[in-house]
Amino acid sequence: MESEEDCIFCKIAAGQIPSQKVYEDDRVVAFRDLHPVAKVHVLVIPKKHYRNVGEIAAQDPDLLAHIVEVAEKIAKDEYNGSYRLVFNTGLDAGQTIFHAHAHVLTGEHLAE
Ligand code: AMP
Ligand code: ZN
Repeated sequence: MESEEDCIFCKIAAGQIPSQKVYEDDRVVAFRDLHPVAKVHVLVIPKKHYRNVGEIAAQDPDLLAHIVEVAEKIAKDEYNGSYRLVFNTGLDAGQTIFHAHAHVLTGEHLAE
C-alpha cells in the first residue's frame, strides 16, 4: 500500500501505531478519534495515502463511496443510523492531518 514517511495515519493503517480499530478491510481502516467531540467519534481513512477528500474524489471515486458506506455501517452498528460526516480540508478548515479522513460523528443527538 502506498504510504508517506512520517504520516501518522499511514502508520495507523499499517498497524505501526496502535489505534482503537472498529472496522478494517482491504481499502480502509476505521478507528476511534483520540479526542472525541461526540459520544461516538470514529475516523475512516483510506489505507492508501491521499492528502484530502478532493484527491480521493478525483482519483478513486469508488473509494470515496466506500468510505461513506463504512461510515453508514458504523452509525448503524453503534447507533440508530443517524450520523454526521465531516472532511476538514485545508488549514483554514481545521485540517491538521494531511492524510484524508472522514470524521463520523454519531451516538447521540448532535447540536446543529
Ligand atoms: P483534522 O483536524 O480534521 O485533521 O482531524 C484530525 C483528527 O485526528 C483529530 O480529531 C484528532 O483528535 C485525531 N487524531 C490525531 N492523532 C490521532 C491518533 N493517534 N489516534 C486517533 N485519532 C487521532
Ligand atoms: Zn498517510
